[in-house]
Amino acid sequence: MIRTHKTTFRTYKKDLERLFDCNRISAIVWNDCLKHARTHHQQTGRWIHLNELQQLTRKQYHLHSQSIQSIQERYVQARTNAWKARKKGCTSIRYPYKEKKHYPTRWKKDGFTIHPNGVIELKMCLINGKRTPPIRVKLAHLPEGQIKEIELIWDRKLMLAVSYEDGRQPKENNRQGTAAVDMGEIHGIASLADNGHSLIITSRKLRSQKRLRNKKYAELQKKLSRCQKGSRRWKKLRRALGKTQQKTKRQQRDILHKTSFQFVQWAEANQIKKVVIGDVEGVQRNTKAHKKNPKKKHRSRNVNQKLSQWPFGILLLYLTYKLKAAGIDLTMIDESYTTQTCPVCDRKKKVSGRTYRCHCGYSEHRDIHGAKNILAKHKYGEIKELGIPISKITYLRPAS
Ligand SMILES: [Zn+2]
Repeated sequence: MIRTHKTTFRTYKKDLERLFDCNRISAIVWNDCLKHARTHHQQTGRWIHLNELQQLTRKQYHLHSQSIQSIQERYVQARTNAWKARKKGCTSIRYPYKEKKHYPTRWKKDGFTIHPNGVIELKMCLINGKRTPPIRVKLAHLPEGQIKEIELIWDRKLMLAVSYEDGRQPKENNRQGTAAVDMGEIHGIASLADNGHSLIITSRKLRSQKRLRNKKYAELQKKLSRCQKGSRRWKKLRRALGKTQQKTKRQQRDILHKTSFQFVQWAEANQIKKVVIGDVEGVQRNTKAHKKNPKKKHRSRNVNQKLSQWPFGILLLYLTYKLKAAGIDLTMIDESYTTQTCPVCDRKKKVSGRTYRCHCGYSEHRDIHGAKNILAKHKYGEIKELGIPISKITYLRPAS
């Protein structure tokens, strides 16, 4: 399976400068892609094709040809993704338009050489048929397996993200069970297996960290607004702002990794072969004011902030590859109304409090209730009573 490993590295001072330049040049290529695409669209009314883009931005930059190609591909990919999201009704998603100052450079398989002593040579451009000397880096940790791609990224400092094939096959899995997952802001993951076992992994810690971050952020913003742009104090505050942001990002990733890991362990212990996840796609993207349906109540700013910072996308990413490694299949399913509908009498109501209670007498833990309905939707195509006696709720917290 393909995995990615992020690592620090050592290099000469001169080469470090050149690496910084790489990401600056990559940004120029990206910006040029934007420009060419815009002009092309204005002139022809059509979208620029990858080939045409490659013709226009070839051999003009001090980067390896495959590195340039990778940027063009990422541009086209971003455009396609935006198009897909818009087609789904997320009209607030814009096509790529933002000019960048730095952009991650990638070296594909012909773009680097790995020496037996662990030194990696990152290849650069050809000038008049002669190649400029490569950049030599030594990774702090060289992953075992066949390296496919190397990306130069910024995370407090320059780092390398190495994609490699670890040679491992997904675990063989001959189990039978199905589990439904409801991802939520407070409970992180709530899951119900068809053997009646259920799991709740809370993300309260994530939320409290977020809140703290937002507060600190607001303070810094306020101070920043009083400074003159570009002044020394302004720069200092800007740095502090960035640091706060990156720190919470790291903490968040850590918690989400633990959450997904715990879930996979639980799924394996419960003989799960298939996991069904409620697709929450619309939730985050609709946090901006509803344009289409002005009658719909606007969410308060507070709720909006909560939702747009809900990192289910990252959690889903982690779950996807961890489940795959465990040989568990993952399916997405439309989760609309799964939290509101009573599976017994089909009445809909908003849940308040920890338990979902219906007039008909049905009651269930609110998070398990959501997972239960997702499982029913998957099994029968509709929300209805499953008839699975829920025997045990396991509570976990991601922080150990
Ligand atoms: Zn009911």
